[in-house]
Amino acid sequence: MNNHAENKLDQLLSCLSTTHGDEMDCKSCDEQLDKVIDKVAEGVELSELLPLVAQHFECCKDCREEYEALLSVLIAENSGTLPLIAEE
Ligand SMILES: [Zn+2]
Repeated sequence: MNNHAENKLDQLLSCLSTTHGDEMDCKSCDEQLDKVIDKVAEGVELSELLPLVAQHFECCKDCREEYEALLSVLIAENSGTLPLIAEE
């Protein structure tokens, strides 16, 4: 668990030191995510679909929280559509 925390810190630090260039801003992050969020809810790795967006989440807490909230809603909706009700 400590290792994991250190990893996160490493990522954060490397983000901070590379804040320019092809970096994505919050608005385009949002737009891009919108196109793939359904796939992510189905289990595709975000970092495979949109590495830059995944990278942005490492740096941007606001976007990440919004993303996680949206994702959990979609996953709940998806599982809600499964035929779980067994009527007798
Ligand atoms: Zn952001």
